[in-house]
Amino acid sequence: MRAGLTAFRVHVTGLVQGVGFRPFVHRLAVRHGLAGWVRNESGEVEIEIEGGEEELAAFLRGLRQEAPPLARIEEVESVPCDPAGSDGFSILASLSRPDRRQPVPPDTALCAACEAELFDPADRRYRYPFITCTDCGPRFTVIDTLPYDRERTSMRAFRQCPECLREYHDPADRRYHSESNSCPACGPRVWFEPAGTPDSIAYGDAGLAKAAELLRAGGILAVRGLGGFHLAADATDEAAVLRLRRRKHRESKPLAVMVRSLAEAQVVAVVNAGEARLLTTPQRPIVLVGRRVDGGLAPSLAPGLDTVGVVLAYTPLHHLLLELAGRPLVMTSGNRSEEPIAIGNPEARLRLGGIADGFLLHDREIVARYDDSVVRMAGDTVVTLRRARGYAPLPLELPVPTPVPLVAVGPHLKNTFTLAHGDRAYVSQHIGDLEGLDTVAHFEDALDRLRRLFSVIPEVAVRDLHPGYLSTRLAEGLGLRQVIPVQHHHAHVAAVMAEHARTAPVLGIAYDGTGHGDDGRTWGAELLAADLAGYRRLAHLRYVPMPGGDLAARTPWRVAAGYVAAEPSVAPAFRLAFQGVDSRERAVAERQAAAGLNAPLASSMGRLFDAAAAVLGVRRVSDYEGQAAMELEALAGRRVAREYRCEVTGGGEGPWVLDPVPLLVELGERRQSGEDAADLAADFHASVARATAELARRAGDAVGLDTVALGGGVFQNARLLESVCERLERERLRVLLPRRLGPNDGAISYGQAAVAAAWLTHGMG
Ligand code: ZN
Ligand code: ZN
Ligand code: FE
Repeated sequence: MRAGLTAFRVHVTGLVQGVGFRPFVHRLAVRHGLAGWVRNESGEVEIEIEGGEEELAAFLRGLRQEAPPLARIEEVESVPCDPAGSDGFSILASLSRPDRRQPVPPDTALCAACEAELFDPADRRYRYPFITCTDCGPRFTVIDTLPYDRERTSMRAFRQCPECLREYHDPADRRYHSESNSCPACGPRVWFEPAGTPDSIAYGDAGLAKAAELLRAGGILAVRGLGGFHLAADATDEAAVLRLRRRKHRESKPLAVMVRSLAEAQVVAVVNAGEARLLTTPQRPIVLVGRRVDGGLAPSLAPGLDTVGVVLAYTPLHHLLLELAGRPLVMTSGNRSEEPIAIGNPEARLRLGGIADGFLLHDREIVARYDDSVVRMAGDTVVTLRRARGYAPLPLELPVPTPVPLVAVGPHLKNTFTLAHGDRAYVSQHIGDLEGLDTVAHFEDALDRLRRLFSVIPEVAVRDLHPGYLSTRLAEGLGLRQVIPVQHHHAHVAAVMAEHARTAPVLGIAYDGTGHGDDGRTWGAELLAADLAGYRRLAHLRYVPMPGGDLAARTPWRVAAGYVAAEPSVAPAFRLAFQGVDSRERAVAERQAAAGLNAPLASSMGRLFDAAAAVLGVRRVSDYEGQAAMELEALAGRRVAREYRCEVTGGGEGPWVLDPVPLLVELGERRQSGEDAADLAADFHASVARATAELARRAGDAVGLDTVALGGGVFQNARLLESVCERLERERLRVLLPRRLGPNDGAISYGQAAVAAAWLTHGMG
C-alpha cells in the first residue's frame, strides 16, 4: 500500500438496501469530516471516501461496527484510489444493473423511536397509523421492483409534503432517505367501513374508535395489515371467538393472539427468556408459548392444547387498535379456511364479507402477500413453523452452487418455492397448500415477482417425486429444458444439511406426515444414509395400510383400523380407537385395508402419532392434520415418562424395520386398565425417542456415520425433538437441526434446490 493515501473506493455487500444504510454512511462520513459520495448499485453499496488517514480508518471501522440494526453486512472491500478532491459528502442516485441479484429487505416491526412518537401528543405524527423510519416499516410488501426507491414501491401514490421532504433530505434526520416516509398531511389514510354499508365510512381516529367499539362488542373486524388482511376479535370473549370460528369454517385449529407488549404477553402466557427474545425481535413472529390457565383468554382459542400463539403488535395501526380495544385480540389470517390471505380492499370486501362485521382499511397497496411467521422454542432451539414476514425472502446459501439457475417448486402442502442462482437460494415466503386454484394463482404471482426481483431466469425445474401432485404439474408446465424429481424425505434431510453447509454424508432422520417413496409407497419415518446427491434407505417404520388414503390423515381411527388389518390379534388392545365410530364406516375401512383397495401402504410417523391418539382414546377424528399429535404433546405436558419397546426387525440386505405394534398394544392395554392417558402420552413420546436413538446408533455403526440430521414435520413436536436430541447426544452422535427453515415442508423447496445443484454439478448420486 502506498503511504499518505487519502482516498478509498469501498464496496459493501449484504442486506444494505432499504435499511437506512446510505444515510448511515453519510452521517458517519460527516462525523469524521470526510468527503465523497455513496450510492446503491443494484443492492450493493459503493462508496468513494477521502480525507485524513486516521479519519478514514475510523470510518472503515465504523462501517461494520455501527451499522444500522436491520443491515446485514457480508463483505466490506476497500481499495485505495486517487482522491477526486470533492468537498462535502453526497448520496448519489441509485444505479441499477440488470444482471445483478440483490437481497430484498423484509418488513420490520415498528421501532421504539417511532412508537414513542406515535404516542407523543406533541409529535406531528401523533396517532398516525403509518409512521415509519429507516429502521422500521414495510419493505418487501410494498416493493414492486428494485432498486429500492419510493417510485418503485406502492408508496409512490403519496407525494411527500414539504415537511416530510425536509426530513427526507436532512442528513441529520432519522428519516433521511426513508422511502416509506409520510405523515397525516401527505400519507395513506385509514378508515372504517361497517360490512354491507361501505358508504357510512369513518376516517382516521374516528374510524379506529369505531373499529375498537365493534371488537369490544364481540364483533369480527377485518384489518388490513402489512402483508394482507387479518380477522380480529376479542380474544377474551369466548362467544366472539366461537363466532369467528363458525364464520371462518375453522373448527378447532389454533388461533393466534396479538398483544401490545411483552408485559401483556406475560399476563396471558408463560414466557421464558428465549421466548421473550423471539417475541420482541424486530421480525415479530408469532411465538408458541405456554398458555396461562388463569390468563383470561377464551378457551376455544386453542382447544385441547396447552400452548397459544402470541404476537406483539408490529405496525402502528395494531398499536392504536389494541390500545383502543384495551384487550388481547385474536389475529388470524384473513381468508376462508385454506385460501390465500386477502390483500386488496375490494377483494377483502368480497371474500371476507360473510365473515367480518366491519373493515378497517387503508389505501397503501400491498404488493405481496406475506403471512405472519410462526416459531417456537424446543429447549434452547428455535424451531421455525412458518417462515414469511420478517424473514423471507432473505437468501440462504447452497453448499454446492448450482451451475445453472433453477426453480424448485416445493411440496404439495405448506408450499414454498426456491429460486437458486450460484450459491444463493431465495426461498419464497409461505405460499400455502397447493390444492385450490387461488393458491396456485398465489404461487404463480409470487414466482413471477421473485423472478423479477432477483433477476433469476431458471433453466431447470425441480419437483417432488410424486407424479400426481399439482406442484409436479406446475413444474412441468414451466416449459424448462429439464425437470428433476427429488424424493421428499431426501429433500428434508438435504435442507438441514444445506443450511449447516454440510456436504459430507449424514444419517438423515425424516419423521413426517407423508411423502412419495421411490418404491411407490408412502414414506414418512425414514432413516437414510444421505449426502446431497443421493441416499440409501437404512430403516423405516413398518408399512401399514392407510384405508381411505388421504382421508386417513384426518381420521386417526382409520389409521388404527389399518394396524388392525395388518395384525388382527391387536384388536382387543385397540378397542378405544373405535368408540363412537359408525360401525358401517369402520367395516368399509377394514375391508379396504384388508384388500389393499384405496389403502396405500405407509411408513408414516405422523400417522403413528394418530394411531397412538386413537388407541389412547384421545382423538378419533381430526379437524386438521397434526391435531392428534399436537394434543398428545400437550397431554404429555411435563410428565416423567417410562419407555416401552418398539421392535426392530430386518437388517442384513434390506433396511431395518421399526415395528411400533408392541408399543401400541402396551399403550392400549394400560389405558383400558385405567392408567392415565396423559402419562401414557408421555410414555409414547419417550418410547419413540428411544427407538429412534437405538436405530440411529445401530445404523451409524453399520455405515460409519456419526452425524445425524433431523427433519420432517413431526419434529415440530418440541417434546419429541428435545428427547430425540438428548438421546442421540447420549449415544455420542452429533445432531444437526433445522433452524432457519424449520422441520416441516416449508423447507422442502430449499432441500430440492440443494439436491438438484449437487446433481447438476457432480451427476446423480
Ligand atoms: Zn421507526
Ligand atoms: Zn408529510
Ligand atoms: Fe414432509
